[in-house]
Amino acid sequence: MPIFRSDPCGIVCVILTYVALFYSDYVVINWIVLQTMQGSLWAPCHVVVFNTLIFLAIMAHVRAVFSDPGIVPLPRSRIDFSDMHAGKIEAEDGGEWSVCARCEMYRPPRAHHCRVCQRCIRRMDHHCPWINNCVGEWNQKYFLQFLVFVGMLCLYSLFLIATSWIHPCSSGHCKPPPMMIKQARLMHSVILSMESILFGLFVSAILCDQLQAIFSDETAVEQVKRQGPYRGHRPKLALMGEVCGKSHPLLWLLPCSSAPTSHSSISPHPPILPV
Ligand SMILES: [Zn+2]
Ligand SMILES: [Zn+2]
Repeated sequence: MPIFRSDPCGIVCVILTYVALFYSDYVVINWIVLQTMQGSLWAPCHVVVFNTLIFLAIMAHVRAVFSDPGIVPLPRSRIDFSDMHAGKIEAEDGGEWSVCARCEMYRPPRAHHCRVCQRCIRRMDHHCPWINNCVGEWNQKYFLQFLVFVGMLCLYSLFLIATSWIHPCSSGHCKPPPMMIKQARLMHSVILSMESILFGLFVSAILCDQLQAIFSDETAVEQVKRQGPYRGHRPKLALMGEVCGKSHPLLWLLPCSSAPTSHSSISPHPPILPV
């Protein structure tokens, strides 16, 4: 079932994301390709590649926005924790179930409570206003894909802007454009350059952060607490597979492939309920 949060900050960020994406497409087609690559074979190639990247970014974004990040279902009957110590119980797989005082329920290992979503989210990473959703176990893959495609779009835009100023007429027989057109092209190129640099740096920083968290698999505290086969050193590809699913690594960037397959790795119920 698709979900959408009514968080104003998230809605503004989602709208901004689409304005930025469509603006870059408008500038690339109208002010770069159509103005400086008329009659060149490169023109249709750039249009197709750029729009494919825009399409993939939107697909990944839509999936990240509307998919369930891993909301822990609320129990049918609320458990009264008032006279119970809010301790942790050890699950068979070595993880620790804990009590969420806000949801008034037990939650699986690594689940955290999100104040914006007002629910506990499996392996919650952070609440991201840009997707107006939490980044959790079930949608982190789409979030990573979105970051990669936006990063590629930023680099590609900067490359096209640079090319258009170095070779303002790639076919070799263009009429010099009127001053108005030249000024408008300059203005759009400057705005798109700034947008690409800003968003490019932003997504690379988040992507580095995300990869670091995935490859280290756990925080320092978790490392001290956990032993045995559940944790320990695992290859980077295996850790990445936990986020992106069991398909071939080459398919991890496709927003249409299946969600991560680790949904059932943790049972939806706590192993022992103290009486
Ligand atoms: Zn909670
Ligand atoms: Zn959230």
